[in-house]
Amino acid sequence: MKNLNNIAIIGAGPAGLMAAQVLSEAGYAPTVFDSMPSAARKFLRAGKGGLNLTHGEEFSLFSSRYFEAESSLAPALELFSPNAMRLWAQNLGFETFIGSSGKVYPLDKKAAPLLRTWLHQLKENGTVFKMKHSLVSWEKDIWQFQTPDGRKDYSFDGVILALGGASWPSLGSTGAWVKILEDKNLNISPLKPANMGFNVSWSEVFKEKFSGTPLKNIELSFTDIHGKTQSKLGELLVNDNGVEGSLIYTNSKYIREQIQENAPFTVYLDLFPHRCEDKLVQDLSKTRGKLSLSAFWKRLGLTGVSASLLREVLTKEMLNEAALVASTLKKFPLTLESSRPLKEAISTAGGLCFTNLDEHLMLKEFPSVFCIGEMLDWEAPTGGYLLTGVMGQGKQAALGLIKFLQTPKASI
Ligand SMILES: Cc1cc2nc3c(=O)[nH]c(=O)nc-3n(C[C@H](O)[C@H](O)[C@H](O)COP(=O)(O)OP(=O)(O)OC[C@H]3O[C@@H](n4cnc5c(N)ncnc54)[C@H](O)[C@@H]3O)c2cc1C
Repeated sequence: MKNLNNIAIIGAGPAGLMAAQVLSEAGYAPTVFDSMPSAARKFLRAGKGGLNLTHGEEFSLFSSRYFEAESSLAPALELFSPNAMRLWAQNLGFETFIGSSGKVYPLDKKAAPLLRTWLHQLKENGTVFKMKHSLVSWEKDIWQFQTPDGRKDYSFDGVILALGGASWPSLGSTGAWVKILEDKNLNISPLKPANMGFNVSWSEVFKEKFSGTPLKNIELSFTDIHGKTQSKLGELLVNDNGVEGSLIYTNSKYIREQIQENAPFTVYLDLFPHRCEDKLVQDLSKTRGKLSLSAFWKRLGLTGVSASLLREVLTKEMLNEAALVASTLKKFPLTLESSRPLKEAISTAGGLCFTNLDEHLMLKEFPSVFCIGEMLDWEAPTGGYLLTGVMGQGKQAALGLIKFLQTPKASI
């Protein structure tokens, strides 16, 4: 027999669905509301590039990926660790593997089959879905939704808000909840892009020729706002607007913070991280004979996008100065004008501050209402940290809600 409490989970992303799973397994029959016609559209979109569920690195390193929010995420990760994520997928019938970079994927890397099975299991266990229900207001105990049949009012014994951030709004997460919660005098840190690209003023010629071209095996370095040198090897992608890709996303928090204070902000690329500057000077000083500059550079392995980057910052005369070319290749100044907008970002930084919440992610001012997932004020790089974090919080809040419902009200 199902428990009769009237529970709403608003937001059918991975955070809300994990909360629904925990509640339905505990004998409750939650209703999941979502504004979109189908559930977890961002989760599905994540599967297009390979659904990166979590990461195989050592746990303390994993936890540190949540930056300043590490301690706020700790209870969620304790309840739902990277290993628990792998077990969860396995229990749904999807084995996972650890890729060469440490990232964990389902064997087929896809989201759709896994989501289909997950939703099926949730429905079997008693979770009810009400799609095309957009939360538009919350007054006292009345939750009002815009539906295809007009506005509908509901009241609940417990509510879990899992409304997402505001990136890729076409997938459902629009950030419209900010106004609803601001009206409740809750503290909300402004929503900002995370894991996004940056604008660079490329020349028209460069843009036309190299938009869509990756720059592989390079090192990116810069000083963050705390004066710490950040330096990483990897790959980025040149695009029409500037740069994107894993090396950029990993550093996007630090670069965004710098741009906020010191725009435009210059980062440095070592285009030949495995060759020292002296060796480059030596090679570039060799006699060129009748070779064109491009042909001469080609012999040294300096071609394509790397060679053209030099032409973006050095004059024709400078291109013949071996020492200057070598030092530019080792420390190419890449000036980032601004962040790409939130709607294009992979995830959202900022959100509802943890200070509004108790240890179960319940609003201190509004007992029985919990908030989880990307709508909260934390961020993490790509690498499976986002899904692990939001699903962990889904579990944390669901257990908190069960405790809340089972506790005599006077003692709360
Ligand atoms: C292109 C892309 C690729 C990604 N790849 C990965 C990856 O490989 N690994 C990883 O860890 N993370 C990845 N992410 C990030 C990850 O998908 C998100 O962090 C995660 O989906 C957030 O979960 P959530 O449940 O908190 O919010 P969401 O998934 O955003 O879900 C929120 C839900 O709330 C609903 N909603 C919003 N407002 C209302 C309202 N007013 N009324 C009713 N419903 C509402 C939305 O329709 C949505 O269904 C990717 C993101 C993108 C965009």
